[in-house]
Amino acid sequence: MSKVRVLADHVANQIAAGEVVERPASVAKELVENSIDAGATRITIEIEAGGRRLLKVSDDGEGMVRDDAILAFERHATSKIRVTDDLIAIGTLGFRGEALASIASVAKIELTTSTEGASAGTRVSIEGGRMRDVKDAAHPRGTTIAVRDLFFNIPARRKFLRSEATETFHLTNLVTHYALAHPEIAFVFVNNGRDVVRAVAAKDLRERAYQIFGAEFLENLLEVDGGDPQVARVTGFVSAPRDRRSSRDSQYLFVNRRFVRDRMIGRSLSEGYRSILPYGVYPAALLFIETPLEEVDVNVHPAKTEVRFRRPAAAADAVREAVRDALARNEYVPPPQIEPQISQSQAATAAVSYTPPQPRIEFVHPPPSPAPLPTGEEIARDIEEMLRSSSVKSASPLPPLNSAERLVREVTPESLSTNIRPLGQLEESFIIATDDEGLLLIDQHVAHERVLFDKYRALESERRTESQQLLVPETFDLTPAQAAVFDQLVPELEVYGFELMRLSGRTVAIRAVPADLPAAEARNMLSELLETVDAEKKSSARETLRDEIAASLACHAAIKVNMSLTPEKMRWLIDRLLQTSSPTTCPHGRPVILRLKMRDILKGFHRI
Ligand code: ADP
Ligand code: MG
Repeated sequence: MSKVRVLADHVANQIAAGEVVERPASVAKELVENSIDAGATRITIEIEAGGRRLLKVSDDGEGMVRDDAILAFERHATSKIRVTDDLIAIGTLGFRGEALASIASVAKIELTTSTEGASAGTRVSIEGGRMRDVKDAAHPRGTTIAVRDLFFNIPARRKFLRSEATETFHLTNLVTHYALAHPEIAFVFVNNGRDVVRAVAAKDLRERAYQIFGAEFLENLLEVDGGDPQVARVTGFVSAPRDRRSSRDSQYLFVNRRFVRDRMIGRSLSEGYRSILPYGVYPAALLFIETPLEEVDVNVHPAKTEVRFRRPAAAADAVREAVRDALARNEYVPPPQIEPQISQSQAATAAVSYTPPQPRIEFVHPPPSPAPLPTGEEIARDIEEMLRSSSVKSASPLPPLNSAERLVREVTPESLSTNIRPLGQLEESFIIATDDEGLLLIDQHVAHERVLFDKYRALESERRTESQQLLVPETFDLTPAQAAVFDQLVPELEVYGFELMRLSGRTVAIRAVPADLPAAEARNMLSELLETVDAEKKSSARETLRDEIAASLACHAAIKVNMSLTPEKMRWLIDRLLQTSSPTTCPHGRPVILRLKMRDILKGFHRI
């Protein structure tokens, strides 16, 4: 008996919905993209209950006539492409013709739409993929789509939705992205009846970024303007090196105004900061890459959040060098060296791919001149080559110094004696000390972090936290995404001695901070915490959240590296460290103390 069957349309649509509709934010993405494609100048997004109960997008775009409004819900129904060749250069955000069909198969939809000058508009109602009703309805030019009860017919999918706070966070992020990508469009975002974003049409990205993030965010950004229109023009903003993030969450990347998550661009961005930002620390960025349409393939991923560059290496170079150039213009890195005699047009290209400033190595063979613009990989190869050739040349090979790495070990709590004597500092960052077993190196910052973490946790559990009132309250602006988690974080922060007040809109005043925390650090700490704390954790694991706050407080209040310490201060720090719950690891899990054993020292000097 035959067993292969063609799936019914509604099943096929639900399967497609699995790829396109992951959560309310992905529905909003498709609807907002449709509005942009329809030429809207104003888009309003309203949500209730994290978008599960209601997600409504209205626009003033070109709208649809009745037949189109019905057909739009068919799978593979699109007005944006016709033939395969159209796929080579896609100028619209949508093109797959499956978003509306997919969404309609897993929710209850009401679409109301009208075209310019039409005598009547149309309302189409669909539930779980079944057309319920089509009738005339009044609507100004444009389209309103209300999506209700997402996944009402697929309980298994509904279970995967996270808390209202998390879904709202994703939705806010999404609206922020599209608002940034389209400054010329007015955006309104309303959550449970409350305005979260209300941005009128702006004249450029700078003005839009100001509307969304506030003046302070912009002040700290460097403008990027580079690349090559033939391959990839790169514009936008990146953060100054002092502004560090522990995740890529503050990186907003767009390719031809399409928001993407692209590892390659992220990596090139980081490469732009090489040698000025340590590994694991990320800059904030708002980067727009514009390429000729045929330079990118956007038909890679059903949700269209990934793209494939036709010339990935050239695009990567353009991003890296445009970022490097922005840093150089602001004197964070030496300016690129451009050959003096080149013409205007060559200069434009040279600005894209200038010779990176010479790293602190000498090339064994000076590169031929004019230098063939080395890439990161080439430089790495050069260094390797140099190291190889120099070790071959040295007559009596010395044991490589890094053999010490094998001898220096993390100190375990059991082997820690109380008999630690500080001798001095290394690079004003590490305390050099001895104990009964040998030589110790103590990372002063993380040691103090551990001391403070234990202190904050103890005070909090005894309800004895102390705070210091600020003479002049510090104010700062929340990003929309931060605002979404702020209210829930406040009670927890107050436990530690913060006094925070929401002023108008997204501005927050810090009126008091925990004892020991320098007022200047409070702002950094809060904005970092608001970015890293998972919205989900707030309700579920209060202890985890309190640990996270204590760790962040400890990190910001702790003495820094590159700070000279008196012998008394070192003594004090070591004594306090030894009294903590875990003197050998910091709250983030890094080692605090390294030891070089006496036995290994003697062995190293061939004394045993
Ligand atoms: P795609 O965007 O890939 O074409 P969709 O399923 O998202 O597919 O939409 C199907 C079609 O419905 C679109 O091609 C467009 O013609 C029409 N459409 C959808 N949303 C709107 C809107 N907000 N305004 C005008 N037309 C729309
Ligand atoms: Mg679409």
